Amino acid sequence: MTEAGTDIIIIGAGIAGLAAGCYAQMNGYRTEIFELHNQPGGLCTAWERRGYTFDGCIHYLFGSGPDQPFYSLWQELGVIQTRRFVHHDELMRLTASNGKTLIVYSDPDRLEAHLMDLSPRDRKLIHAFCVGVRALTDFDLSLLLQQPKALMGPMDWTRLGLKVLPFLGPMARWGLLSAQEFAHRFQDPFLRRAIPQMFAWPSIPVMVGMSLLASMHNKNAGFPVGGSLAFARAIEQRYRSLGGTIHYNAQVERILVQRDRAIGVRLYNNDEYFANRVIAACDGRSTVFDLLGGKYTSPCIKHRYNGHLPVYSQLQISLGVNRDFSHHPHWTTYLLDKPVVVAGEHRYEIGVKHYCFDPSLSPPEKSVVIIMLTTSYQYWQRLYGRSIYNAEEIQESGILIDQLEQFYPGIKADIEFVDVATPLSYERYTGNWQGSSCGWLLNKQTLPLLITGLRKTLPGLHRFYRIGQWVEPGGSVPVVAMSGRNIIQQICHEDRQAFQVMMPETSRAG
Ligand SMILES: Cc1cc2nc3c(=O)[nH]c(=O)nc-3n(C[C@H](O)[C@H](O)[C@H](O)COP(=O)(O)OP(=O)(O)OC[C@H]3O[C@@H](n4cnc5c(N)ncnc54)[C@H](O)[C@@H]3O)c2cc1C
Repeated sequence: MTEAGTDIIIIGAGIAGLAAGCYAQMNGYRTEIFELHNQPGGLCTAWERRGYTFDGCIHYLFGSGPDQPFYSLWQELGVIQTRRFVHHDELMRLTASNGKTLIVYSDPDRLEAHLMDLSPRDRKLIHAFCVGVRALTDFDLSLLLQQPKALMGPMDWTRLGLKVLPFLGPMARWGLLSAQEFAHRFQDPFLRRAIPQMFAWPSIPVMVGMSLLASMHNKNAGFPVGGSLAFARAIEQRYRSLGGTIHYNAQVERILVQRDRAIGVRLYNNDEYFANRVIAACDGRSTVFDLLGGKYTSPCIKHRYNGHLPVYSQLQISLGVNRDFSHHPHWTTYLLDKPVVVAGEHRYEIGVKHYCFDPSLSPPEKSVVIIMLTTSYQYWQRLYGRSIYNAEEIQESGILIDQLEQFYPGIKADIEFVDVATPLSYERYTGNWQGSSCGWLLNKQTLPLLITGLRKTLPGLHRFYRIGQWVEPGGSVPVVAMSGRNIIQQICHEDRQAFQVMMPETSRAG
């Protein structure tokens, strides 16, 4: 084996890997990133077809508002200074067949008035909910992630506890209540039906949805104009400008270990690269069980991957439509009286989004329209490799397009392009277990892990670290970028070196 050629090898050019690369370079470490795909971003991506750009990721980016939580992270990564954001004043609408509609306004005053109109008899519950959203407009979510947990001593935990103290009430009340359970408390039948979907999935802790509304209200959860891939490319550019190297089409097959110390990686083409440290910013399961052969694990890690923790696998049907949707709300979930069967499951709700708020994503007068559904990974896996897989994709998109025809008469004739992404597409392009879009899905069970954090190292293995959505429950673009920042802070600490951050063009201490 040869000498280490570089200081840190990073596996994966998703947002976590790119961010780690940027902060490592800022701190004088020589880094190389190895990425299986031919482009950066991982799940933070988009794909172009016949003039339409289908975005596969960011709906809401925390940190899009100046001086708000996570904003300085994006400044350091050089991605926000030149970018425009679209801030919506409603999360989505939920519409029943009789036209009754719940508009999920981000402004708690407006939301409260609207909900009261819909159901005066649920006034107490509505008021309590909106009080919670108001309280969370002052809560800085990034506080939970601003410091590597491994470096936090009792004083740091106390300081964090004091900052979080005013919000413990809302956290305790809403953190362990799912949207589905919340809905059961309403008397109004329409709200009982609509509320589970108001944050897109019924098991989401209400507090997570409230935080999203609060951030939207603060204009700190915008959509980056140009879309997710352009956003990722900007971080890639920052990384390169800091002197980093990326190898594309470079899938790591094995993490090389010598005397329980990570020393490099071997690619599928048998090339080997060496470094003083290795950071895995890729799928959590394959890192532990494939790249390291399951040698450095624990009952707790094994337990996490035995299927009892939830992941979020999704089906995305993207349509290029020769019709202007800009006068429609940007996201409507239709509540169906009779279910449709899609991918083996009865669906009582169909969520439809369009992206006309960003004209750069479609040709003039045309629209990108997207339908997103939760789906079972196992369902698609059973079909994969058999000729019916493609037939099934076509059939599912056909069923959904028939549904769309009822909501938007004549749309069928205007559809110019149909693209179907199943969990297997996400798995194929990013290596994520079960095609999960966020690592572990946030629910009542996993929310506490967001606060306590998961270990970024593996038992018995030195000079090796894990970052990204599989060690930051709930994932999300800012949280995984912070994961990359934190690991470099931790490495600087190990090397007794002050952690530095640099703004593009200027530099200052962190
Ligand atoms: C549809 C959808 C909507 C979302 N909406 C939002 C949103 O609105 N806001 C938000 O903040 N977040 C959102 N997310 C979540 C967010 O995109 C992810 O949590 C985040 O991008 C994960 O980043 P990561 O770097 O941890 O992992 P990944 O993006 O999975 O990156 C891992 C990288 O490692 C590479 N890789 C894997 N294995 C190997 C290997 N063996 N060798 C080399 N390279 C390898 C992969 O190709 C990939 O590029 C959404 C995700 C999806 C899919």
